[in-house]
Amino acid sequence: MDPVLVVGAGPVGLAAAAFLAHAGTPVRIIDANAAPTTLSKALVLWRHSLLTLAPLIPPSYWHSIASTTLDQRWLLGDFKYEVDAAINAAHKPQHKCEGSLQPGTLFMNPTDVGLMGLIPLGNRDGQLRVVWNADAHCPGEPTIEDFQQLLTAHTRQQIRLTEPVWLSEFKINERQVQSYVHHNGRVLLAGDAAHIHSPAGGLGMNTGLQDAANLAWKLSLVAAGEAAAGSKLLDTYQEERHPVGAHVIRMSGRLLRANALRSPFVRFVRKWVLRALVAVPSLAAKMVSALTGDEICYSRCTLAAAAAAAAAGGAAVRTRQPATAAERQVWGCCKPAVAGRAGVGVLVRPDGIVAAVGGPDEVNGWLKKHVVPSSDAAACS
Ligand SMILES: Cc1cc2nc3c(=O)[nH]c(=O)nc-3n(C[C@H](O)[C@H](O)[C@H](O)COP(=O)(O)OP(=O)(O)OC[C@H]3O[C@@H](n4cnc5c(N)ncnc54)[C@H](O)[C@@H]3O)c2cc1C
Repeated sequence: MDPVLVVGAGPVGLAAAAFLAHAGTPVRIIDANAAPTTLSKALVLWRHSLLTLAPLIPPSYWHSIASTTLDQRWLLGDFKYEVDAAINAAHKPQHKCEGSLQPGTLFMNPTDVGLMGLIPLGNRDGQLRVVWNADAHCPGEPTIEDFQQLLTAHTRQQIRLTEPVWLSEFKINERQVQSYVHHNGRVLLAGDAAHIHSPAGGLGMNTGLQDAANLAWKLSLVAAGEAAAGSKLLDTYQEERHPVGAHVIRMSGRLLRANALRSPFVRFVRKWVLRALVAVPSLAAKMVSALTGDEICYSRCTLAAAAAAAAAGGAAVRTRQPATAAERQVWGCCKPAVAGRAGVGVLVRPDGIVAAVGGPDEVNGWLKKHVVPSSDAAACS
């Protein structure tokens, strides 16, 4: 079999290559850079992406849809730092940015010189990331002094930045390609190559990793010539993942804009109303699952519709995330597998999505007809 060529060894390309290799498909990876970077943009890995990755642990296609470059200038600084009791001693900051800087916490603070975020990185050196929507407030190349001034003036943290590890500047683009599948499935786009948006919510890499997981098992079957004739498996990648990308662009854009608004009314809502809302467990769970990707389901897509038709005997079928331990057990199989129990077959795809629920024969029949004609799905070890 010819290898699949993965272009770009970022997190999404590497994940796609690993998923493909895991499924036995030969892979070749190339990257424009000669060596791996030592810097990291993405910090947040949401639950669904972690579960999706679990099995691995042992010409321009841009179109003008949803294409925006926000007129904002963002600065990023990763620093080594120390606590210095002398800082802020005689100073009364305009806004608070309180709390201990524990890894896993994030402080967002709209100030009169732009939105600022503090993110303890929790890496070996205990670095602190500062992101700042500085716009015109900090012209020129950012320096450690600019960031120190910002922290001293706008937080109650007694932080002295001691050494910059990475100083950078970025603009936020919001855009998505029209099609993830080109040249009859010979060129496929995933990750930032397919959709790009603000870092708010920590969704970019997570969405890309899930693209990779969704694509790899389909591509493996197609490359091996094992996909059911006429199943158009690769087209289901576009059908399932394009709407997710569009949704993520909207959601991260809204999060960014909501955090940047500075009117007293919005500040009041953000501080008190939102705080009250997240105290309601069901609402908090809803907000969290919107970010984590737990809500993603492809129940209106072709594969689910085919499953529904096959299971017309009456069993409920919808494509969703695995819900039971038995369903989760078959995650990571290279081909769709059935978690059977007492006469019920649950077909779990390699990307962790439950594709079909019904009688085991029914589910197997559907699998053979629509996905892999040659093999029975079986609970894999
Ligand atoms: C400040 C910041 C913070 C972020 N935080 C988070 C976060 O917490 N969580 C999250 O999920 N996302 C986050 N993101 C987004 C995340 O970094 C990206 O979504 C993610 O890196 C995309 O991965 P990728 O592999 O698609 O692309 P990239 O990481 O951009 O990798 C692409 C690779 O392809 C190579 N390449 C490009 N063009 C070519 C070519 N023509 N030929 C060969 N090689 C090529 C590049 O050299 C690079 O190695 C953040 C982004 C920023 C800017």
